[in-house]
Amino acid sequence: MTSGSAVLFKGLKRQTPHDLDRVIHGLHEEVFAKTDCLNCANCCKTTGPLWSERDKERVAKHLRLKTGEFESEYLRLDEDGDWVLQQLPCPFLEDDNACAIYEIRPKACREYPHTDRAKQAQILDLTQKNALICPAVGEIVARMEVIYAQKKGPATERPGPKPRGRR
Ligand code: SF4
Ligand code: SF4
Repeated sequence: MTSGSAVLFKGLKRQTPHDLDRVIHGLHEEVFAKTDCLNCANCCKTTGPLWSERDKERVAKHLRLKTGEFESEYLRLDEDGDWVLQQLPCPFLEDDNACAIYEIRPKACREYPHTDRAKQAQILDLTQKNALICPAVGEIVARMEVIYAQKKGPATERPGPKPRGRR
């Protein structure tokens, strides 16, 4: 992310939600088409997901643990009262950057980095933060800076989104 990002995000907040979704979703599609998350895993190494009740129950069952046992072994409550991992990198991250519980991973892992989600206008602050963690988001932001420089505002003619998974 460049020093122009603060200016960029300030400008993005003035865009219509529909146009913002079209721009970011189009860039998400382009950038993740050439991104191999198995060569990165920075999200799994540096930030863990928030665990919903359903996430905890599903993964605990898979590990043949009671939900409380799973909580004790892997999770803690953070200052906001959310369940998060006790340790990072994530204990389910394998040496080759694969996820040991990929098929049943938490919803937040499936949706990260959220650049294909509807209503991007509502998560611009999160996207700005994720640009420092996720190189793909960093690339999306860098491309938006170019679009702004060239067009003095996000392009609106990009194709609509095709959501894709984290890996
Ligand atoms: S989502 Fe981003 S941070 Fe996570 S592995 Fe893929 S490129 Fe890396
Ligand atoms: S559960 Fe899997 S996808 Fe989620 S942080 Fe851990 S290793 Fe990464």
